[in-house]
Amino acid sequence: MSASITERLRAGTVLGAEGYVFELERRGYIKAGPFVPEVVLDFPDAVRQLHREFLRAGADVMVALTYYAHREKLRDVGREGDLEAMNRQAVRIAREVAREGDALVAGNVCNTWAYDPDDPSTARTVRAMYTEQLGWAAEEGVDFVISETNDYLGEALIALDVIQGLGLPAMVTMAPTQPKLTRDGYEYADACRILAAEGALVVGLNCDRGPRTMLPLIARIRESVECAVAVQPVPYRTDAIAPTMETLRSPDGERAFPIALDSFTCTRFDMAQFAAQARDLGVNYVGICCGAGPHHVRAMAEALGREVPASKYSPSMDLHPMFRADVSAKDAAFLPSWNA
Ligand SMILES: [Zn+2]
Repeated sequence: MSASITERLRAGTVLGAEGYVFELERRGYIKAGPFVPEVVLDFPDAVRQLHREFLRAGADVMVALTYYAHREKLRDVGREGDLEAMNRQAVRIAREVAREGDALVAGNVCNTWAYDPDDPSTARTVRAMYTEQLGWAAEEGVDFVISETNDYLGEALIALDVIQGLGLPAMVTMAPTQPKLTRDGYEYADACRILAAEGALVVGLNCDRGPRTMLPLIARIRESVECAVAVQPVPYRTDAIAPTMETLRSPDGERAFPIALDSFTCTRFDMAQFAAQARDLGVNYVGICCGAGPHHVRAMAEALGREVPASKYSPSMDLHPMFRADVSAKDAAFLPSWNA
């Protein structure tokens, strides 16, 4: 019997891995713009493969690819009729790969773009969307649910209520797109405190910010709540000038988000350092979001002191012809051009 999310959080740091939508877009299976995970039905092997890569890299959780697989978004791409099949299949694929290792399966919901704190009727719409999505997830079998990239505490609380209604543990994270406050005006730490008081097992932040601009916010949250804390930044080099991936600009002033962010990508070493820093802050669920690759996840796992299946192929630069201590006379002839 695999350890539950609660047991794993008690035993040590849980390693998360997300960013499925961005990575599968890069691989040619998801359309940028709508970012609907049609790949789940159209190319299930592509989803299976990416889960497997994250599993081999050390991820403890396979997150079902139901991000944006909700009624509003599927309507945008003319596939509302595929809603149930897409949600069920995403959970089945995640379960199948999780069983190849010792990973848990998380159901997943996100911001709906339908919520308006000033219009109570939208709360009913959002609740209906979460209820149908998570009902299917629960029937297919998930160990817990991640509600993520929440802009509004109000919308996050609806997700939490639906998750609890299904009797499942909830991890609820806010998207820190603004400097201090959620879109409905709560400091991130206060929003997390309220979510914890309402019974979320894990609270925290995910997406939008890179490690450098995410860590100060998560440190405040860690000080503010007793429960487990999660942080899943994007692997992009955000800074004081451009604190989120949406605000990053190319040298000629063009917005880099969402499909020209490559030159801002963190190295595996950046993400390894982040993982250790987050753990040292007392964060319990350390992960990564949009932009992630399996090499980042493996480096994070190793920074947390683990050896994972993909560690078999971790770098051995001592075996590189030019980096080894005893560069042969033949190979040394290349050195002047490498050092130019
Ligand atoms: Zn993300």
